[in-house]
Amino acid sequence: MRIAILALQGAFAEHRQMLSRIGIDSFFVRNAADWQQTKDGLIIPGGESTAMMRIISDEGLSQPIREAITHGLPTFGTCAGLIMLDRVHLNTMNILAKRNAYGRQLGSFRTIAEFKEIGRVPMTFIRAPFVAETDTDVEILAEVDGRIVAARQGKQLVTAFHPELDEDERIHRLFIDMCRAFKYESNHASTS
Ligand code: GLN
Repeated sequence: MRIAILALQGAFAEHRQMLSRIGIDSFFVRNAADWQQTKDGLIIPGGESTAMMRIISDEGLSQPIREAITHGLPTFGTCAGLIMLDRVHLNTMNILAKRNAYGRQLGSFRTIAEFKEIGRVPMTFIRAPFVAETDTDVEILAEVDGRIVAARQGKQLVTAFHPELDEDERIHRLFIDMCRAFKYESNHASTS
């Protein structure tokens, strides 16, 4: 298995380190040529969603990424990555993100909270969004202060916080479990 990590901007290197700690190979996607190799799963990291949306559009990646996710490519979005999957951005997930939802002063904090099926996990928030709206096909996985901070819909997993910045590997392992037995075989990705 080899996981694609969108590496245009933001905290992509930390995801790669986390995956390597759990013995999973990964590669960085910076352009359409890199994207061709994407098969098993995709991570969209934290960063600035506005900048990332602009760059994927400039690189001609918005459409292929949206199409792959719609066809079931397992995808994990953290923080800005959560925002990018919502209804007003790539619109692959039935959620509405509220950006910079904790305000400027309280923008960054750490807590420990319950995550469905995993237990209590450390959560690092950096000017994080939260999930303001969901539909019935979206499973809520974690809440902090009554706000949804992790959710899953089919093969899409999102967290408002940054599991790649903590020691706990369980959320990445959960994502890897979602990637098992999946191969994206569209025309552009089935070259091997
Ligand atoms: N506030 C950022 C945004 O709106 C997200 C912050 C992050 O990814 N750490 O894109």
